[in-house]
Amino acid sequence: MNLPTLHNMMLFVAEKMVESEPTLTALDQVIGDGDHGIGMKRGFAAVMVQINDPNFNPKDVGDFFTQIGTKLMTSMSGASGAIFGTFFRAGGKSLSGVTDFTTQALADLLNHGWQAVYARGNAKPGDKTMVDALAAAAEKAATLTTCDLKTALPQIADAAMAGAEKTKQMVAVFGRAKNLGERAVGHVDPGSISMAYIIKYMNEFIQK
Ligand SMILES: [Mg+2]
Repeated sequence: MNLPTLHNMMLFVAEKMVESEPTLTALDQVIGDGDHGIGMKRGFAAVMVQINDPNFNPKDVGDFFTQIGTKLMTSMSGASGAIFGTFFRAGGKSLSGVTDFTTQALADLLNHGWQAVYARGNAKPGDKTMVDALAAAAEKAATLTTCDLKTALPQIADAAMAGAEKTKQMVAVFGRAKNLGERAVGHVDPGSISMAYIIKYMNEFIQK
């Protein structure tokens, strides 16, 4: 996928994330403080403005994702902005000089993004966070690097959503959900759904 198509794909993803605000808000009202959907909406609305700006001319795929991460970090408040910003910034930094967005590039984005999110907050798989979706996606992508994106993305998106659904059974280690203890069991982590949605919408774009 070349850079202009990547612009279009992430513009589609950003639009869909903005549209997902009511769903994310409803999920976060159950086990969080109810602001996750609003934060994601604010961040991805800012990304839409960024991508549509004629002066936005990232030099390669890595620079593209790094700049998106910086925009999320500076436009969203709270932990989600830091986490999703770190994911895109660190993933982007690993793709410096890359001009073709392939399954290998996606696998690198996911893996380096995951390692950076872990380094920042120590969230491991099983802690009921976005890492549960991200780690599942990264591990699946690593097995599909020789496939084209159109073949690989449905499987990576399914793995991410399965990872997010697994958070239902988990007791939270971080955030407000931690205070709920066992009462958070039975409810998904909203951040894990956001992570899974980002990949789901990438897939929807590429299958169009
Ligand atoms: Mg919150």
